[in-house]
Amino acid sequence: MDMNSRATQALADSDIWFPNCRGDIAHHLISLAGEVGELCNVYKKWDRSDEVSIPDVTLMKMKDEIVDVLVYLYNLAGELNMDVEAQYDDKRLRNHYRFAPVGVPLAGTGADVGATRAHPSG
Ligand SMILES: [Mg+2]
Repeated sequence: MDMNSRATQALADSDIWFPNCRGDIAHHLISLAGEVGELCNVYKKWDRSDEVSIPDVTLMKMKDEIVDVLVYLYNLAGELNMDVEAQYDDKRLRNHYRFAPVGVPLAGTGADVGATRAHPSG
């Protein structure tokens, strides 16, 4: 399923699970912040433990919280009628121009867009 479809799906789910929250950007932003906090807290608990490597149960909890973060990001994208696919690709290209070493192609495309720092859109 593509990202735009996920945004539509997340809003449809939210309409069922939280029926009074359609159009409530603050609800989605606050929920997103809460889920990012939960993700960080899972990592923090491991980081403060004596364990050398991250145990599978912690990785599973982190992955679960990452999905919660994605749900609220998709809800926000849906609320804003965002073309997630197009805007992700555009931002990725702009980040590549900004951060990639000169001459390094954009991963997955082979396009040598890092050959100059001049972005085509100016
Ligand atoms: Mg959570």
